[in-house]
Amino acid sequence: MSQNVIIVGAGPVGLLLAILLGRKGRAITIVEKWPEIYERPRAVTMDAEVARILATLGIDCDNDPAFENHKELYYWKSADLKDLQIVDWKSLAPSGWHVTYWFNQPELEARLIDIASALPSVTLLRGWTAVALNQDKDGTELVIEDGTSSQTVNAQFVVGADGANSFVRDALGLEVVDEGYFFDWLILDMIPAADYKTSPAQWQLCDPKRPTTIVPGGPGRRRWEFMVLPTEDKDEIAKEESAWRLLEPWGLTPDNAQLERSAVYRFQARYTKQWRKGRCMIAGDAAHLMPPFAGEGMCAGLRDAVALSWRLSAILDGKLGADVLQSYESERIAHAKHYIQFSRELGDIICITNPKEVAARDARMMADLAARDQQPITGDLVKLGPGIWCEDTATAGELSPQGMVLFNGHEDRFDQAVGQGWMILAVDCTKDNLLNDLEMIDFENLGGRLLSIGSEGCDVKTLDASYRDWMIAAGANYAIIRPDFYIAATANTPAQLAIHFNTILDRLRLIT
Ligand SMILES: Cc1cc2nc3c(=O)[nH]c(=O)nc-3n(C[C@H](O)[C@H](O)[C@H](O)COP(=O)(O)OP(=O)(O)OC[C@H]3O[C@@H](n4cnc5c(N)ncnc54)[C@H](O)[C@@H]3O)c2cc1C
Repeated sequence: MSQNVIIVGAGPVGLLLAILLGRKGRAITIVEKWPEIYERPRAVTMDAEVARILATLGIDCDNDPAFENHKELYYWKSADLKDLQIVDWKSLAPSGWHVTYWFNQPELEARLIDIASALPSVTLLRGWTAVALNQDKDGTELVIEDGTSSQTVNAQFVVGADGANSFVRDALGLEVVDEGYFFDWLILDMIPAADYKTSPAQWQLCDPKRPTTIVPGGPGRRRWEFMVLPTEDKDEIAKEESAWRLLEPWGLTPDNAQLERSAVYRFQARYTKQWRKGRCMIAGDAAHLMPPFAGEGMCAGLRDAVALSWRLSAILDGKLGADVLQSYESERIAHAKHYIQFSRELGDIICITNPKEVAARDARMMADLAARDQQPITGDLVKLGPGIWCEDTATAGELSPQGMVLFNGHEDRFDQAVGQGWMILAVDCTKDNLLNDLEMIDFENLGGRLLSIGSEGCDVKTLDASYRDWMIAAGANYAIIRPDFYIAATANTPAQLAIHFNTILDRLRLIT
């Protein structure tokens, strides 16, 4: 049977995309070359947006035993343990979840596999490698091999979520921009004795003798990352005895801790210039690679999956034309490049080993910190690149805030109480006569919902000030929200809202 979408790669990005499309009943095949889950140490931290995405799958990161949040600040310290930087990793982000959560990637992948496997329209082919890809205007053809046999799978679309060495990207001839950045680090996933603690729980030791990251690794685990010095041999430091030697000053020995996973990685910064060719797209590490100093590589990939899923879903429903996929590339590439740049900048600060440069860095960072009275910094809200949103309206292109609400007797975060999809919110004002009859037909064709939100009497009753504060900051009364929770537009008057709504429709090229 021909599939709607073939996804190459069952990493977190491919699995999430398969789930989001599979839940809509789409026929999805995921092809994964490894017979088992990839057990090397990788992601341990994720941001509030990813917690929001996982919540749509029924994973509640605040209460799920596979995730933890330390509700503490994140510190960067000099070799003599003076504070250089303090980051707020304990607060709630505007989008309704904590700024940072800890987990371990193989466990998350196992969860996603369980969810995907329960969907009748999703097929996971493990132990199969994609080796050839062809497409024409009507469909795609992927040849896969399992070592002894080969078969061809046909689909309307192919997505390469096949990691840093992406076969799909290379088969499509997409150009990779390598920013020529690399540092080698030894990564250790540890299971210490239950009473083991570090203080602070999450911190960065900017010691030029050995830049080191000390963070949680998900419940019951801790992660140490040690920079491999320019004078050191990578193979030597990858040995288990080197790991224990480096861990000894931290009070860890084979008697009180288990070394669960270890690997030496070369951290790199790369992106692919084009993410779509005809009926084929790339996502995740296939499209962008960043050093993990910001903990954003997988997060960026999961955003790609969400961004692709609502577009592909609407195309497969016959509601949008395939051209809308162009905005997947233009929106996501700019967003991912922001995080590549940000991660590089963090690495440039962390990885300094020259004593003179270290002294200058420490003096500068301590002065900055003193100038803001030791107050922690918070993360930026990053805008999408140009696409399906109105640049000239306040807060558009950003992730929408989220508060607690009461809807149909259900009290919860907005996403869980009300749901997800295209929405027009009239905040503390009437929703009557916002769109004319024809506009309303188009909106409903997109599955859109028009809701008033605010005090008693509105469709959705707010239980905190999130929506009101947002509207005051934006100087607006109305907002158009997309299925990926990003803000398409805000407007002050019904007339403005209608103009922005029609701009969005034009950009979507809705098929009526
Ligand atoms: C040390 C380290 C720490 C990190 N920490 C964080 C962090 O804290 N937070 C964060 O957000 N990110 C982090 N990352 C990044 C994160 O691990 C990656 O961004 C994420 O795994 C990318 O997911 P993906 O699904 O795009 O690709 P992958 O996870 O690489 O999955 C791709 C899959 O495709 C399969 N595949 C490849 N080629 C083929 C083929 N031809 N046929 C079939 N299958 C194929 C592979 O076997 C693989 O399973 C870290 C990375 C490293 C190395």
